[in-house]
Amino acid sequence: MRKKTKYDYGDCEICGTQMQERLIKQDFWIRGELIIVEDVPAGVCPRCGEKVVKADVGQLIMKLIKNSERIAKSPRISVPTIKFDIEEAKV
Ligand SMILES: [Zn+2]
Repeated sequence: MRKKTKYDYGDCEICGTQMQERLIKQDFWIRGELIIVEDVPAGVCPRCGEKVVKADVGQLIMKLIKNSERIAKSPRISVPTIKFDIEEAKV
């Protein structure tokens, strides 16, 4: 029997390491707007960084990011925006 105190995320699909529970930031693009959800409980692979979110947590996030009133009231951050420039990348 597995212990029931914490959700068992199992092993990483990529490298087979036991996943550990962490609070992560997840980003979503909703109607052209970048939305970041903080403190999302997720299983994170300590080796390769692979992340998994439980289905019920995923559903809650979907609810949160569909709430446009809540989004309107949320704090905003600015992010660097870089234009893809193939000439510059070659230098
Ligand atoms: Zn891994």
